[in-house]
Amino acid sequence: MNQSLMQQQLFDNHGRPINYLRLAVTDRCNLRCFYCMPEEGIHYLPKKELLSFEEIQRLVAIMASMGISKIRITGGEPFVRTDLMQLLRMIKSVEGVQDIHITTNGVLTAPHVDELKELGIASVNLSLDTLDKQRFHEITRRDEFDKTLEALQLLLAAKIPVKLNAVVMDGKNIDDIVPMVELAKDHPISVRFIEEMPFNGEGSHYPKLLWTHHKIVEHIRLAFPSLQKVDDPKNSTAFHYQIPNFKGNIGVIAAFSRTFCGTCNRIRVTAQGVLKTCLYDDGVLNIKNLMREGRTDAELRNALLKAFAQRPKDGFEAEQKRSNKKVNESMSTIGG
Ligand code: SAM
Repeated sequence: MNQSLMQQQLFDNHGRPINYLRLAVTDRCNLRCFYCMPEEGIHYLPKKELLSFEEIQRLVAIMASMGISKIRITGGEPFVRTDLMQLLRMIKSVEGVQDIHITTNGVLTAPHVDELKELGIASVNLSLDTLDKQRFHEITRRDEFDKTLEALQLLLAAKIPVKLNAVVMDGKNIDDIVPMVELAKDHPISVRFIEEMPFNGEGSHYPKLLWTHHKIVEHIRLAFPSLQKVDDPKNSTAFHYQIPNFKGNIGVIAAFSRTFCGTCNRIRVTAQGVLKTCLYDDGVLNIKNLMREGRTDAELRNALLKAFAQRPKDGFEAEQKRSNKKVNESMSTIGG
């Protein structure tokens, strides 16, 4: 790799390095998780409103030249986007991109596992909220449990690093917490529990979040008293724990409590090509429009730099600054 690219470092106005882009490649999803999307009445973007593969590749190249080296492909469900593997190859070819990660529900992933391995995908975050088929259907409103489980098995067999992500929902999947922790006993996976956020197209499901990160940890500790807090990797959003003799580890993500903003190194681009410098803002720059107006790479770079220089210090400030005050858009449009 070109030496100057390797040394490029990008900082925001709070001195936080930015090196991680989460890119939503579609707003469509093949599940209807109740905490993420309404069951009906979803208005998907017409295809021309999505960034094209060429636009995505150009954007990634511009960002990589500025110091972004880690890309997470998300959505919506990324595998719903036609020819996703082609897009991954295009992104992989961009100079400066070091790691590509994917967040998926796994339903369409199994046939692509070998190719993901060949491509050197750095890790896959598999969203799975329950190990019970019936409960899976209640949560996702779709009957796709077996496909997600197959994807998990194939990813593990291919030795692709896997993180399992489960949103913790009062009255829905509390009984799954302990069995999911047990998955980390024999498998080298990170099992992560996430606080539910109000991003579901409807607003918060609870007057007050009941399953905070503290309560999730207490719950796990009751079943596994030897649970130990371990160091968290730099810029991690999860608090990490280990249980002696377990091959994997446990993570708890305070997504609603927002404990991790001080070291946030990530930005997002939504499926419609809008930059978010915080999960809780409502979009700060329409990159797609700039591209389609014919702006040069230098102009785009300047617009991005300006946005990074006005980044809110945390998710609470971002929420206050929103022009659309209601924090209720779906994670599928934001890019989870
Ligand atoms: N379809 C892919 C998947 O299921 O992983 C990628 C997109 S999905 C929006 C990304 C992640 O966001 C999933 O792990 C999902 O559980 C999580 N998510 C969605 N809505 C959420 C909410 N309201 N609170 C917490 N996590 C949420």
